[in-house]
Amino acid sequence: MTMDSPIDEIKKKLDLVEFISSYITLKKLGRNFKANCPFHNEKTPSFVVSPERQIWHCFGSCGEGGDIVKFLMKWENITFFEALKELAKKAGITLKNSNLEDSTWKKKERFFNMNRLAAEFFQYVLNKTKFGKKGEEYLKDRQIKPSIIEKFMLGYSPSSWDSLRLFLKKKNFSDQEMHENGLLVLTDSARYYDRFRGRLMFPLCDARDHILGFSGRSLEDNVKEAKYINTPETPIYHKRETLFGINLARESIKKEKNVFLVEGEFDMITPYQNGFSNFVAIKGSAVTSEQLMLLKRYTEKLTLALDADEAGNEAVKRGIDEAERLEFEINVIKFDFAKDPDEAVRKDLVAFKKAISKPIHIYDFLIDLALKKHPADDPFNKKKVGDEVLPYIAKINNSIVKSHYLKKISALLDVTEYSLETLIKKINRSKNIQSFYKPTANNKKNEKREDILEKYVLSSIFQSENAYKINEIIFSIIDPSDLSIPSHKKIVSIFIEKKELFKNGFNINLFVTFLSPELRAIFDEIYLFASSDLIVSNENLEKLAFELKRFSLKRQMNQILNEENDEKEKNKKLLLITEELKEVEKKLISL
Ligand code: ATP
Ligand code: MN
Repeated sequence: MTMDSPIDEIKKKLDLVEFISSYITLKKLGRNFKANCPFHNEKTPSFVVSPERQIWHCFGSCGEGGDIVKFLMKWENITFFEALKELAKKAGITLKNSNLEDSTWKKKERFFNMNRLAAEFFQYVLNKTKFGKKGEEYLKDRQIKPSIIEKFMLGYSPSSWDSLRLFLKKKNFSDQEMHENGLLVLTDSARYYDRFRGRLMFPLCDARDHILGFSGRSLEDNVKEAKYINTPETPIYHKRETLFGINLARESIKKEKNVFLVEGEFDMITPYQNGFSNFVAIKGSAVTSEQLMLLKRYTEKLTLALDADEAGNEAVKRGIDEAERLEFEINVIKFDFAKDPDEAVRKDLVAFKKAISKPIHIYDFLIDLALKKHPADDPFNKKKVGDEVLPYIAKINNSIVKSHYLKKISALLDVTEYSLETLIKKINRSKNIQSFYKPTANNKKNEKREDILEKYVLSSIFQSENAYKINEIIFSIIDPSDLSIPSHKKIVSIFIEKKELFKNGFNINLFVTFLSPELRAIFDEIYLFASSDLIVSNENLEKLAFELKRFSLKRQMNQILNEENDEKEKNKKLLLITEELKEVEKKLISL
């Protein structure tokens, strides 16, 4: 029997560095580890992990930080209790139910369960009843194998107004719940009925196999209804975040370092059945930033395999801005012998393989497309090609890539690069800068140098093996009262009070036991700070300490100027400080 909380137990069993390393690549840097922050888009790493403290912090624009539970919450976008539950499972710890008294989580879990039961119901109807015959025939027609039907948990919703509703009622779900979870429709006259009727059913899952909702395909050829209908937005289903097939494709995407984005459910399923398992479907709408952020965890490269029609081409274009912003390498494949990947696989597997082995870069694709539309033999067609393509070229982040395409277009159109660059400048000026390149306010970088210095100096003390000695050096130059932030003063005072304990080495986990929980949180952030890149051209600690002293003296001067009323007293004090300031300036020059 232990008195540890489940979180303490989890932390004993699971090492944070190891855990985070299974998601992103960490690089060792001194005592700590660093990486590009997985929670926002950045080019220089500002995400720091401490093996000793078992904490992480991002010093970039997202400014997030915390422990292993917080990391998983952020990573999977889940609640505290969901994360706890998952970590406990991983650590082999059983949680008592009382640990899980969390209503958001309970509701989500209940909705996942409801959907799982619904999926089983649809499967049963498809596989075991005469009502499912139609669905069975249809799948056979489309050459989907039984093992794949099973794997994707495909099912059939009977043409009835309330068969699912009655089934779930027996499992103790209320109409209101089923409605909130998207399975029932509510009429104006306050009656409920099954949303999905007479359709082939596809469960829509997240990467961890929870069923979030469904899409249902009509099997009638000339229906007035939509070919596909989907679960509406619910507490668990968010269209913008969902990618059909991600649960089955995720490992393969990681391994292949590439993901194929296709439009429809069958465009994912049919390739999968033929061994192409890194496909996911965006389900007929434009790629969203949420979907791309999700994919960015698994790969930096994506290949668009959208329908070979005008709508597909439009979808390609709409995906570019976001994907370029997230720094994906984007390629395109086209099948000239079939309208979509599903048809391509079934029609000619060899040609399909050939096509996917020869992706073309997105910008080459756009240029080809424009040239086909406006053959560049007269000046006005050339203008049209330019108008169509240059807005995309203008947004390319990498200057080498950009220059490559400008050269290419100039050669193809037989115009000077200069004329293209002029156009690009014009585009950039008129472009509504707000639309895609919202600069994230980087608060940390706007922090006052004074505050940054303080954090850095303290951080350097506590990150050093010999905190005792460094502390002696720094605090022979400054006094804790020279620090401007009260919590920093407190932390330093506590250290100085206990410093004899650390004469033979600094034990950080012992030290934090002397701090209150509030101070501990502040300390953790300070502690990791020196591992961030936010400093400071000069890393000579002594010099930085003198710089801190100068800030402190100037602060004191201001205070005297503002608060001291006795003129004589005022001048006397100012003189003293001025003398001290001179000394400090001298030191600063000499160091
Ligand atoms: P199938 O192969 O089953 O005929 P498809 O993928 O060829 O479907 P498209 O018309 O190209 O059909 O649609 C692409 C995808 O867009 C579909 O797979 C589906 O996910 C989604 N979709 C199609 N029609 C609708 C609709 N009316 N409402 C919502 N989503 C739809
Ligand atoms: Mn199709």
